[in-house]
Amino acid sequence: MTTAQTERTEDELRELAERAGRELEDAPALEVLRWAVDTFGDRFCVTSSMEDAVVAHLAARVRPGVDVVFLDTGYHFPETIGTRDAVDAVMDVNVITLTPEQTVAEQDAEHGPRLHDRDPDLCCALRKVKPLEAGLTAYQAWATGLRRDESPTRANTPVVGWDARRRKVKVSPIARWTQDDVDAYVAEHGVLTNPLLMDGYASVGCAPCTRRVLEGEDARAGRWAGRGKTECGLHG
Ligand code: SF4
Repeated sequence: MTTAQTERTEDELRELAERAGRELEDAPALEVLRWAVDTFGDRFCVTSSMEDAVVAHLAARVRPGVDVVFLDTGYHFPETIGTRDAVDAVMDVNVITLTPEQTVAEQDAEHGPRLHDRDPDLCCALRKVKPLEAGLTAYQAWATGLRRDESPTRANTPVVGWDARRRKVKVSPIARWTQDDVDAYVAEHGVLTNPLLMDGYASVGCAPCTRRVLEGEDARAGRWAGRGKTECGLHG
């Protein structure tokens, strides 16, 4: 049995996460991803909001053809879907698109229109959290593009941690990067980015819940602005 096919208990996965969290805290992003690929093989994926393809690009350097999971909520900007399609077309990755159980029309019929305005937590649970949980069942570990400098809610993001809700290892290889680090990597490697980043958006989510950021605001201030919500629940 290869490493890629190894079955592990929840306790084994948690111990792996805790040990790697200590050992890789100061490691470069590529080293973190190499550990994840060597440890989990096919049971490792990258998740991407298609704000940019930085983590997908890093992971593909370590493992060409790596799975890149994208959640299509049905509410994305056309630019985000276009970025997903461009990543799929030009990068050496395997893009997997997850969708919610219900279309937007079906959700509107059951819960009423514009659920995102009335109960964004429920909307995110139905359109993001549930489909991601279902989509991650095949994996033991998943990578995110979370960074500590994005907002106070992300300041303690571990490079490798235990995702207790999904009982998986959660890898954030660029947790310690700054926006300048991201910009430098994008420029050096010609990484695909969402065009909205050049149009005043610092963080790109669903269209009804995302606005441009103002001078001096943190990167995620344009998400659910004025609704008392800062995270969708994927990373809670
Ligand atoms: Fe719904 Fe907004 Fe959450 Fe997207 S970000 S799932 S539209 S509440």
